[in-house]
Amino acid sequence: MERVERFLSGKRQDGALRALRPADWRKEGRINAGGKTYHDFSSNDYLGLSCHPGLKEASKLAIEEFGAGACASRLLSGDLNLHHRLEEKTAAFKGKSSALVFNSGYQANVGIIASLYKKGDAIFSDRLNHASIIDGILLSGAKLFRFKHNDQVFLERLLKKERNNFKAALVITESVFSMDGDRFPLKGLADLKRKYSCEIMVDEAHATGIFGQRGSGLVEEEDMTGEVDLIMGTFGKALGGFGAYLACSAGLRDYLVNACRSFIYTTALPPAVIASGMAAIDLVKEEAYRRKTLLKNADFFREALRETGLDIRGRSQIVPWVTGTSERTVRVSGFLQERGYWALPIRPPTVPEGQARIRFSLTYHHSKELLERLVEDIREADKI
Ligand SMILES: *Cc1c(COP(=O)(O)O)cnc(C)c1O
Repeated sequence: MERVERFLSGKRQDGALRALRPADWRKEGRINAGGKTYHDFSSNDYLGLSCHPGLKEASKLAIEEFGAGACASRLLSGDLNLHHRLEEKTAAFKGKSSALVFNSGYQANVGIIASLYKKGDAIFSDRLNHASIIDGILLSGAKLFRFKHNDQVFLERLLKKERNNFKAALVITESVFSMDGDRFPLKGLADLKRKYSCEIMVDEAHATGIFGQRGSGLVEEEDMTGEVDLIMGTFGKALGGFGAYLACSAGLRDYLVNACRSFIYTTALPPAVIASGMAAIDLVKEEAYRRKTLLKNADFFREALRETGLDIRGRSQIVPWVTGTSERTVRVSGFLQERGYWALPIRPPTVPEGQARIRFSLTYHHSKELLERLVEDIREADKI
């Protein structure tokens, strides 16, 4: 098709054509591709749970007992007690009265937002929010207002000016941002919620399992569980499995079971996936040392790099080094790959022009010794 060819050659000319790069294997913090093994700094397996014996065993048992597939959607015969047990566990973990499991974070965001808001409503969304949030808003038909990243003064100005022109209003943000590794100042939302009578939704994809006394996320850490109406997160990142959840009130859960198309019109998650989610929540509680070690190592790594004067962002296990142009970033990434680190360049349009970066996703598998070595290699990479 001609328009497809045009698209591809345009991308090729800009050096922006993306391609898949299959690995031979990937486990326990390492990735093997093209006959070489690298330290994997691009995965979201933050706690190293994806290969944990507890998760693997739980999945195997569930396959033995229930088979490989769920065989139908939740509202038909795909609904097992197992799904409900995971939802109860998730609700307790997040401190909400109910939870609903979704097949992926993408499906959760798109379906939740589009079923709760429509034309005549307003959604105030942080500029750096994930594509799934944007797609949910577009599908909903609500009016989208984007506010400057992490800027509550800007947000309040928008609310003051626009809130009264709309029926329902939602403020939506991630708690830990994937490309910048920084955190949204959630505390301030309580005040705005009361003043402007809006609902609050927080996406905890990168915070679940990492932050908070119990490891449930940043909403817990900031003591905002009562204020955030919709707490969404995934099982596919720190929890090492797959799928997503929304923690909310019982009424909202009932509403979504009846109205959310991405929940209704899809096959339920397989038993093995549900079982791994349950095991992962237990492990977050039982093996709290994983997140503590991870955050301590991340603090060390971030500060060591900042001391060398590099543009290092974030306040989490995600540590972006903003390197500037795409061309330089690709070069730096190549240097690091030669040294054995799988740390890929993130370029525009994923990030703003001139702010291309190498994003280091730290996991429990990266020891302090490895990070010390990486800091030295980054110092060299900075000179090329
Ligand atoms: C990864 C991610 C999602 C999507 O979750 P999947 O389960 O991978 O579909 C949604 N929101 C944010 C902020 C994410 O980082």
